[in-house]
Amino acid sequence: MDLDHSPGVAAFRAEARAWLHEHVPDVPLPSLETQEGFAAHREWEAQLHAARWSAVSWPEEYGGRGADIERWLVFEEEYWAAGAPGRVSQNGISLLAPTLFDHATPGQRARVLPSMASGEVIWAQAWSEPESGSDLASLRSRAERTEGGWLLSGQKTWSSRAAFADRAFGIFRSDPGAAKPHQGLTYLMFDLRAPGVTVRPIGRLDGKPAFAELFLDRVFVPDEDVIGEPGQGWRIAMSATGNERGLTLRSPGRFLAAAGRLAALWREQGDPADTALRDRVADAVVGARAYELFTWAGATRFAAGGEIGAESSLNKVFWSQYDIALHETALDLLGPDAELAQGPWAEPWVFSLAGPIYAGTNEIQRDIIAERLLGLPKGRR
Ligand SMILES: Cc1cc2nc3c(=O)[nH]c(=O)nc-3n(C[C@H](O)[C@H](O)[C@H](O)COP(=O)(O)OP(=O)(O)OC[C@H]3O[C@@H](n4cnc5c(N)ncnc54)[C@H](O)[C@@H]3O)c2cc1C
Repeated sequence: MDLDHSPGVAAFRAEARAWLHEHVPDVPLPSLETQEGFAAHREWEAQLHAARWSAVSWPEEYGGRGADIERWLVFEEEYWAAGAPGRVSQNGISLLAPTLFDHATPGQRARVLPSMASGEVIWAQAWSEPESGSDLASLRSRAERTEGGWLLSGQKTWSSRAAFADRAFGIFRSDPGAAKPHQGLTYLMFDLRAPGVTVRPIGRLDGKPAFAELFLDRVFVPDEDVIGEPGQGWRIAMSATGNERGLTLRSPGRFLAAAGRLAALWREQGDPADTALRDRVADAVVGARAYELFTWAGATRFAAGGEIGAESSLNKVFWSQYDIALHETALDLLGPDAELAQGPWAEPWVFSLAGPIYAGTNEIQRDIIAERLLGLPKGRR
């Protein structure tokens, strides 16, 4: 890919920059992990949507701009550089939507995507269960056939923002007699306020109440909310994980912006005699650039028809470790009280600690890298 962007891409960048300059709130919104912040971020999604910036890579008929991956990466750079709010619709936009584009019926897309783009319906991911995180195929929540649909029962856990979200998507065991654990699973969408659903917040280190576990007691889901064929849930679910680990969850734009802010903080408050800390700031800037170039290389292959696939595990391990190092450098620069303070570094630092766990733990990613990219023998399970 030619990184000297074409005039068309440059114009797209200029349009995004101008809009963001005019609309990004001057005062940061409250945390999207609180009820008040969730509502404020939902309104921000509606504003983005009204100007067709909420899902730029989607086709226009669903509220997007039909942007290619180059434009999407450019938009992300501008978005984070402008200090725009976090995306409360992320689960839907980066995880469910790619699945719908690949596997849903046209009717399902028309029904689900526009309200996702506008923030009217915010989605939670309901994959993990108390005994099934890394070994997701061992999941036990059931989908039983009933007239006109399915009845969901069981427990899902670690569901980001589920305390305030509207709907969820997840995989359920529809054929307990299937020969292998990843067979006989069905991918369904359901309403978090349907009869039989209990949503219980899980306490987080930072005290924010949006993380939740879900208890499902014969929750009715109509056939029209099954994605793909019943029994094919594993294949369908796995087709989206590369997106999450690789590109959409952590685009380089986010780290370029954070590294730029860190360098500015160093120029304002850094002690020139502290060369060790200065080197960590420099490492953060180099890391953001390296991640940017690696991502552009992946995007080039993708644009030429390649898959993101197992390569996304390299991104995942890198961004999750980088995020922690970047925030720890900022906190060390700010001094001993920084960890107690609210503000642009302390809260994201706490969240960065979870990066090596969610979207598939780094131990599992390293296994994927070893086995699928390096061709090393399978480890002991
Ligand atoms: C902040 C946060 C947000 C999350 N959001 C969501 C969400 O929205 N929706 C959702 O469905 N889930 C979500 N999760 C759950 C997340 O996907 C799981 O926590 C993750 O997959 C790990 O599963 P587990 O917690 O059951 O740990 P386990 O799988 O029990 O793993 C425990 C440890 O053992 C290691 N381990 C396990 N198996 C192996 C192996 N074969 N080889 C080597 N090491 C191994 C793991 O790497 C880990 O270090 C979230 C988690 C966090 C922390």
